[in-house]
Amino acid sequence: MANLILKPGREKSVLHRHPWIFSSAVLRMEGDPEEGETLCVMDSHNKALGWAAFSPHSQIRARMWSWNPDESIDQEFLKRRLATAIALRRAVIPAQETDALRLVHAESDGLPGIIVDRYADTLVLQLLTAGAERWREDLANLLIELTGLAQIYERSDVDVRRLEGLPERVGPLRGEIPHERVMVQENDLKFWVDVIRGHKTGFYLDQRPNRQRLRLLAYGRTVLNCFSYTGAFAAFALAGGASSVLSVDSSTEALKLGIENVAVNGFPAERAEWMEGDVFQVLRSFRDERRSFDLIILDPPKFAPTIAQAEKAARGYKDINLLAFKLLRPGGLLFTFSCSGGISMELFQKIVAGAALDAGVEARIVERLGQGPDHPVALNFPEGQYLKGLICAI
Ligand code: SAH
Repeated sequence: MANLILKPGREKSVLHRHPWIFSSAVLRMEGDPEEGETLCVMDSHNKALGWAAFSPHSQIRARMWSWNPDESIDQEFLKRRLATAIALRRAVIPAQETDALRLVHAESDGLPGIIVDRYADTLVLQLLTAGAERWREDLANLLIELTGLAQIYERSDVDVRRLEGLPERVGPLRGEIPHERVMVQENDLKFWVDVIRGHKTGFYLDQRPNRQRLRLLAYGRTVLNCFSYTGAFAAFALAGGASSVLSVDSSTEALKLGIENVAVNGFPAERAEWMEGDVFQVLRSFRDERRSFDLIILDPPKFAPTIAQAEKAARGYKDINLLAFKLLRPGGLLFTFSCSGGISMELFQKIVAGAALDAGVEARIVERLGQGPDHPVALNFPEGQYLKGLICAI
């Protein structure tokens, strides 16, 4: 068993139960651990503080599995953590609400690097770190055992794996994947999810409660749905009685599925319009054409994965929010989101305030939004709160 010895004073964050140990906090290593191996974490006086997974290639050199030096990190440990995560979802999300939800949310469930999403009878596993990778087979077996499902598809194809020195890996991990598309149900609506080629693991599960809010506020409104992906917001706006929804996205594949998602729910095709394009340009041309809408949704991709990119990202957010404010009719609503880890709610609000000021509109926040309860935020890991949203009224 290898040991990771922390520099004097750098044990503080471990004692506060933050799961990340940065390379700059490491005094020395004892032993020659392999990638992903479990390390005993010690303070500079060699007092054991807990167990962590080793990531030799990442700035985050180790991630804590447990702060209990007496606990073994083994299959039983993983089973306990997975079962706890699954039980939490059962407790906070009624089964009739959806069959598409995140069962395991990495650090926020005490399982760094491990994401498990459920889409009806299919599980999608995403492993982000060397530590998670090492337990791949055990995780697959345990997930089958704990959920009673037979199919696991792996979507370990995210950029962060490169920082860990891991190659991308996708494909069936357990069972067959009968169709590349899976039909899921969310409240009374249905959606096709492409778990093989879709973004993330196929669907933006984190927006579920915000889709419900949209549904309740969309009645009679003309809606502009920017960064629509496969039309989840579009379908909920139509379900809420929106008079029309125009969805804009740069991905042809996403728009195709969006059209099917509106059709499968029985909404008339003429109430939903789809436009392939760059939202930045589309918003500008709508401004020049003096078009206007009663409700605009801005749900862009991550502009700032880390704090280092925050400044450039801030310009992007300001740009689209400013244009959206200009396109809104008086009494209009803006649903605006940021899923960038590098942008805090406080900063996001400042950016949106700056956009309103420059657009010359008087706007007020009527509601703050975040990710759904299947994406919990561990209090010892505030970084887990990544999705921020505002509903602004002008
Ligand atoms: N609102 C969606 C999720 C949006 S994800 C939902 O709830 O399901 C971000 C989307 O933005 C992706 O579908 C991606 O294809 C699209 N995208 C990224 N950059 C874009 C751009 N500049 N213009 C238009 N769409 C863009």
